[in-house]
Amino acid sequence: MTITKYDTTIQSKKQVTKRGLDVINDPRLNKGTAFPYNERDQFGLRGLVPPRCTTIETQVQRVMGNYYRKTDPLEKFVFLSALHGRNECLFYRVLLENLEEMTPVIYTPTVGLACQKFGALYRRTRGMYFSVEDKGMFRKMMDNWPENEISVIVVTDGSRILGLGDLGANGMGIPVGKLSLYVAAGGIYPNRTLPVLIDVGTNNQDLLNDPLYLGINKTRLTGEKYNELMDEFVEGVQDRWPGALIQFEDFTNDHAFYLLEKYRHQMLCFNDDIQGTGAVALAGLLGALRIAGGKLEDQKIVFLGAGTAAVGIANMIVAGIVEESGIRPEEARKQLWFLDSKGLITTRRGDTLKAHKIPYARDMEFIPTLTEVIRKVKPTVLMGLSGQANSFTETVIKEMARHVKRPIIFALSNPTSKAECTARQAYTWTDGKAVFASGSPFEPVEHKGQMYVPGQGNNMFIFPGVGLGLVACGAKKVTDSMFYTAARTLAKRVTDTDLHQGTVYPGLKRIRQITESIATAVCRVAYKEGLATVPVPDDILSYIQNQMYHPAYAVYESDS
Ligand code: NAD
Repeated sequence: MTITKYDTTIQSKKQVTKRGLDVINDPRLNKGTAFPYNERDQFGLRGLVPPRCTTIETQVQRVMGNYYRKTDPLEKFVFLSALHGRNECLFYRVLLENLEEMTPVIYTPTVGLACQKFGALYRRTRGMYFSVEDKGMFRKMMDNWPENEISVIVVTDGSRILGLGDLGANGMGIPVGKLSLYVAAGGIYPNRTLPVLIDVGTNNQDLLNDPLYLGINKTRLTGEKYNELMDEFVEGVQDRWPGALIQFEDFTNDHAFYLLEKYRHQMLCFNDDIQGTGAVALAGLLGALRIAGGKLEDQKIVFLGAGTAAVGIANMIVAGIVEESGIRPEEARKQLWFLDSKGLITTRRGDTLKAHKIPYARDMEFIPTLTEVIRKVKPTVLMGLSGQANSFTETVIKEMARHVKRPIIFALSNPTSKAECTARQAYTWTDGKAVFASGSPFEPVEHKGQMYVPGQGNNMFIFPGVGLGLVACGAKKVTDSMFYTAARTLAKRVTDTDLHQGTVYPGLKRIRQITESIATAVCRVAYKEGLATVPVPDDILSYIQNQMYHPAYAVYESDS
């Protein structure tokens, strides 16, 4: 018998030819105890699952009971990964209903730990690996992937995983985690997502010595050979899945900027560490200005760190200033100062600057320390993207509070252990005047009877909505104005209650509504810029809502 699967949300029919244990062992088809009796008969499942038919709600209850029995975040990660591999719909239902609680488990900070132990934790494959050993075969290998329609690919080469450095093929946890968030927060259909790891080797000697390491046993490929491999991957994707969005993730900054610049004008792609981070930080800054007052173009912003994330944020702030005030980018850049590991970045420093730093080098005398830069510049905003814990010292923070009423202080380095300062330090050292946000979550802080709730500049506020919007309108390219619009839309979602508590980001509970509004705004930009290929719908928001995945079991009906 051929069985037709009616997907209740998109009404498409799929042929399901599997029977018996093959159905149960397929996470896309499996419903476990929720198979009703007519489906048990159609699929030959009688006797293979316990007699009582349960609802998905009961299954969620059982999963959560088992989840709470685990106290260690890594154990929770393994438990959720196992559920993902067993019953995809139930995994997403659980995740969507508990997103706030589970995001730190399936993504930063726990995913970092999971990547470090990836070889030891490995149970079953997920996503695709392309290695140096496969050179010349990438396109053919893509035919091994069973899905013909892919909307979003998240790809890493594992070279800079969060703040943890080179984790080689173990970096696969990042694309897997990000795409789970795409499905849960962005409503992209799970079967239309593809996590990818490009294994060009690793320079992490501990991994090369580890018999459980899953990547090739070679040091990293560099130069032209690296670029050829990336070209082969990108060209293969364009041929196998034309129109799929490629999201570059956790590449070291020497490759991140180059790859983005190379591909962004030819195809649908973006780099989340550069553009996603840029938009989420800009949104936080716009939210912070609703508390501190003042216009974006009047802010003086000092960055500690001048890598992928810092320059990505700076580019987005410049785009914001240009958009809002009409001044030229060269003028807008004069509001920004950068320090890297050597000190203030200036044209007179006497060293060769990496290309991404050059537009931000100041024509002024070199200043070696952050405190001196703050004394000289008198910034209104301080951004930490250096990966250096405790670099916002008491002196630094008090210096900020000396010259501004409400200093805006963002300690964005991840994971929590790398943050430039804690929320408590920012609030107590400024006597509650700081408007604070961080990259990893911090608990609320009570200071002199007032509760302060620090916001988390989590990229998941931005990338699922941007991705959904791009896919929905069939965009050909991704532009800075799309990310700027996403930032503006996110900033508008911050409520007065949030701001009253000092929070510059909305709660994750509202993530689906936030995603829908960002996707709608991104579509509007794509239509305005002539980059959309899908005809303009009458009502963009409902069009997008109708395309979103909701984790509910499909109903299977016999077609005979
Ligand atoms: P990167 O390696 O590209 O850049 C790090 C920068 O810090 C470099 O410019 C380096 O010179 C500088 N640096 C190192 N030591 C320093 C010191 N002692 N003083 C001043 N500068 C110093 O890394 P990246 O991708 O830009 O990421 C930086 C941090 O930002 C990481 O911790 C990462 O987790 C975090 N990040 C946060 C978010 C977010 O909050 N949403 C997003 C992306 C990255």
